[in-house]
Amino acid sequence: MTVSIHTLGCKLNQTESESLAVAFRDRGYEIVPEDRNPDIFVVNTCTVTSMAEQKARGIIRNAAKKAACVLVCGCYARLDGEQIERLNDNVFVVDPKNWSTVFSEITERLHLQPSTPNPQVPITESRRSRAFLKLQDGCDKLCAYCRVRLARGGSVSASAEEALARLRAFENEGYAEAVLTGVNLNLYRDGGKDLAGLLQFLVKGTERIRLRLSSLEPEAVTTELLEALAHRRVRPHFHLSVQSGSDSVLRRMRRPYTAALVEEKAALLRRVKDDPFLACDVIAGFPGESQADFERTYELCKRVGFAWIHAFPFSSRPGTEAFDMTGRVSGKEIVRRVSLLTELARSGRRGYVDRCLRRGGEIEAVVERRRDSTPKNCVTAVSENYLKLLVRFPRGETRAPGSLLSVRLAAPSTFDAEADFVCSITS
Ligand code: SF4
Repeated sequence: MTVSIHTLGCKLNQTESESLAVAFRDRGYEIVPEDRNPDIFVVNTCTVTSMAEQKARGIIRNAAKKAACVLVCGCYARLDGEQIERLNDNVFVVDPKNWSTVFSEITERLHLQPSTPNPQVPITESRRSRAFLKLQDGCDKLCAYCRVRLARGGSVSASAEEALARLRAFENEGYAEAVLTGVNLNLYRDGGKDLAGLLQFLVKGTERIRLRLSSLEPEAVTTELLEALAHRRVRPHFHLSVQSGSDSVLRRMRRPYTAALVEEKAALLRRVKDDPFLACDVIAGFPGESQADFERTYELCKRVGFAWIHAFPFSSRPGTEAFDMTGRVSGKEIVRRVSLLTELARSGRRGYVDRCLRRGGEIEAVVERRRDSTPKNCVTAVSENYLKLLVRFPRGETRAPGSLLSVRLAAPSTFDAEADFVCSITS
């Protein structure tokens, strides 16, 4: 039986999709690309924006015409399962937390021989050029625009011992880097260990593997966390969930910090690493966001000089506090604000790339899976400071996905829009 998995949304969803793939493989299913018309099509959905849900419905409808069975999971499926199952008779919502339901669904629906269910797996892992490790799920915060917490429930954390065992397994399998994921990693708790304690524990218990964090909440950047982030094997790449630069908007979003605190934490993060890649999430057009509020957001991003800004258009989500808020910003104005922030992001990235070039020297990078568009004698790679690289090799040489390289930045790439730099390998 062949299976394809289509993943929407965040790194956490990617990690969970990969663990689904592992579970299918363990039962003898073959994971195939979507264009191979699989027998079973899995869609792992996202609920952060209405656009993400619309996209999921389109993919599900399309798959339902070709596949014998379409299994749908993820945040959107958890909240609107009935609506999704009405899309077609062969569409079923499943909960990956409960493997047995997934496979009994298949066995029953497709009249297959029952397979040996696997015990529930608390931590999920992946098989990519970089390892993904899910350490936390759910969230106890009450952000006014967020539907994720409604879908995933309260915060739960993996045990530190098991996390270390997984990380050591990755290291022994030759992974050079692991991305630590969760809905809100900052809420990690295992006994007396918080995120800072876990990081210290993981670097102490391993030797070579590098660690990259998926995202950070500004208010959670404590002295202890900064000390842990300073470790040489923690990647110089920090993604702050900022959302707005206006204190009145932050208050109505129920975000527990101010614009001044964001600036302070960004400066502290720049002290623990030499010019780290600082990125952030921002929502444009939150109800009641005035032109002045937006300018405060824009100016904050400009002052901090983020190397990238993920600018999201506000999306009114059912079940959230913001859904009933007045003072809606027009769609046209939201588009204008998002494009201004995206333009600022591009110039921030250019500025960061120029600084890296001027600084010169060697940086580490991990080779990515090969893309059809990758030129001969080249591989694509992601650098320690999250830049996309095109690495050129002497004729006939190459490196496998997941390999750790040391490269020298040569020049910003011109022919490959996907890459920030063309590089030559140094080791
Ligand atoms: S911190 Fe806020 S936005 Fe993030 S998952 Fe929790 S409730 Fe949602």
